[in-house]
Amino acid sequence: MIHMPLRMAGFAVGLAVLFQTPPAVALQVFACEPEWAALATELGGDKVETFSATTARQDPHQIQARPALIARLRSADLVVCTAAELEIGWMPMLLRQAANARVQPGTPGYFEAAQYVRLLEKPTRLDRAEGDIHPAGNPHIQTDPRNVAAVAAVLARRLSEIDPADSAVFAQRSQNFTGRWNAAMQRWAQQGAPLRGTAIATYHSCWAYLEDWLGLRETGTIEPKPGIPPGSQYLAQLVTELPARGVRGILYAAYEDPRASEFVAERIHVPAIMLPYTVGGSERARDLFGLFDDTIERLNRGLAGGASANR
Ligand SMILES: [Zn+2]
Repeated sequence: MIHMPLRMAGFAVGLAVLFQTPPAVALQVFACEPEWAALATELGGDKVETFSATTARQDPHQIQARPALIARLRSADLVVCTAAELEIGWMPMLLRQAANARVQPGTPGYFEAAQYVRLLEKPTRLDRAEGDIHPAGNPHIQTDPRNVAAVAAVLARRLSEIDPADSAVFAQRSQNFTGRWNAAMQRWAQQGAPLRGTAIATYHSCWAYLEDWLGLRETGTIEPKPGIPPGSQYLAQLVTELPARGVRGILYAAYEDPRASEFVAERIHVPAIMLPYTVGGSERARDLFGLFDDTIERLNRGLAGGASANR
């Protein structure tokens, strides 16, 4: 029976050869949100391996600092987050626990997307009264594709800075992405043109940038303040007040509980419209292009025909 162990030994050697990884290991990108993981993949291709700490089904304000996230952060070469206090409840703790010097704030391995766009709803004075979770301005910047373009340009340069050997690849992919993105933005602007001036309400104020881009007119939020769920009295007040403001639909994100939005929408006879919010928020939102294709289509479908459409 001596030939059996020998054959097994040969098999083991074969396995070892098979699993020898090539020396060039992909850059490990830890994204706080799916949109930045998707963007890093667009720009980095197979030169990056991306991981998103959150999914489209999770409120990025409210994440548990789980051990699995700490382990991922420990091996990261680059962190890409929105910042503007969106991840204030969990990211500082993760960064401390992971103790990865390559990705600490202030190093090239730490990237804050919100630094490269114009923040909307910036408070004129620092005020965290009543638990407002947008004290630095509105952090939901990815709902405007112009912001995605601005972030893409800086992120491509950052990838090159961290991995200069592949800078030609990043530059080429960045140019390719920008071309396709600009063409898509023109298409979306055309498709979204009929929405201009339409009055809407939203659950959380996470659509400020989408509204700014498409010219939607926000007339109120179902949350009395960002992060504060509505009470029954406030809901009743909205039911009375929103129709007078000409509201034609109530927008909510894929990760949000739809009940309060639906409650108000039903009573004022407008549709409650779920939007994917980020990559993975709907079947069509498989990448950044699909995210906006689907968003525009859902808005057009939901808001077409005015307030009487849903009767
Ligand atoms: Zn928010």
